[in-house]
Amino acid sequence: MGILEGKKALIFGIANNKSIAYGIAKRFKEEGAELGFSYAGEKMEKRVTPISEELGGKFCVSCDVNKDEEIESTFKTVKEEFGTFDILLHSIAFAPADALKGRYIETTRDAYNTALETSAYSLVALCRAAEPLMNKGGSVINLTYYGSEKVIPNYNVMGVAKSALECSTRYLAYDMGENGIRVNSISAGPIKTLAASGIGGFKNILDFIERNSPLRSNVTIDDVAGTAVYLGSELSNKTTGEIIYVDGGYNVMGIGL
Ligand code: NAP
Repeated sequence: MGILEGKKALIFGIANNKSIAYGIAKRFKEEGAELGFSYAGEKMEKRVTPISEELGGKFCVSCDVNKDEEIESTFKTVKEEFGTFDILLHSIAFAPADALKGRYIETTRDAYNTALETSAYSLVALCRAAEPLMNKGGSVINLTYYGSEKVIPNYNVMGVAKSALECSTRYLAYDMGENGIRVNSISAGPIKTLAASGIGGFKNILDFIERNSPLRSNVTIDDVAGTAVYLGSELSNKTTGEIIYVDGGYNVMGIGL
């Protein structure tokens, strides 16, 4: 029997089968969870519907997290299809490509607002909509990156957005803890996905981590999925507000060679 048997999980952030959310959803399914999917607006329907079918999704709905009416209709479907549910996966980030290269100081007001709204405020909005439908013992999981804490050249405004996301994790953990719901962030090492390919010099980051992390390797979506299963399950039932690193240990290093 899987460790997530009897649990219902709502998945945000699948673009394709390289997405971190895909790796997590697949593992959730293997562990017995029932899944519901969303995709980022109509244009993504063709890509995400087959993945929902592959993983036996109960529903697959459009949810651009920057549109309140789409969030509202998504949770209407969740209520109809799931009643209540247990796990919310937020695996969403976006910043305009120009903001992910060169000098942070050049970030425009528009790029800043877009990055923060899509990548950090979306967690607040989804938690607020989800809270009435989440069971006691439920778990909210989101994805962050070390660029929130230290300067990673080119990560720029996304680092600022991830700081806001991590801080939101702590405040939401306090708010939702009242109802027995946990909120945690997984800080994943770099993985070549669609979102990551927009970051300037990404290949150099992967090479550097492989040489310099304690485990001398990059992480995979399966590595991240293992930790997500732990966070979604009762094994972590007194862990909330945390940033958990799945990065081959890179965050403990002072300098690289
Ligand atoms: P990904 O496959 O490109 O996933 C990002 C997802 O965010 C996509 O499904 C994207 O949909 C969605 N999204 C963007 N704007 C949205 C909106 N307005 N409404 C709804 N969804 C929206 O890349 P990923 O690497 O798996 O990223 C998942 C999460 O992991 C992100 O939070 C990312 O910052 C984080 N992370 C990634 C790495 C890494 O190195 N890959 C490391 C640490 C943390 P569209 O494609 O349709 O825009």
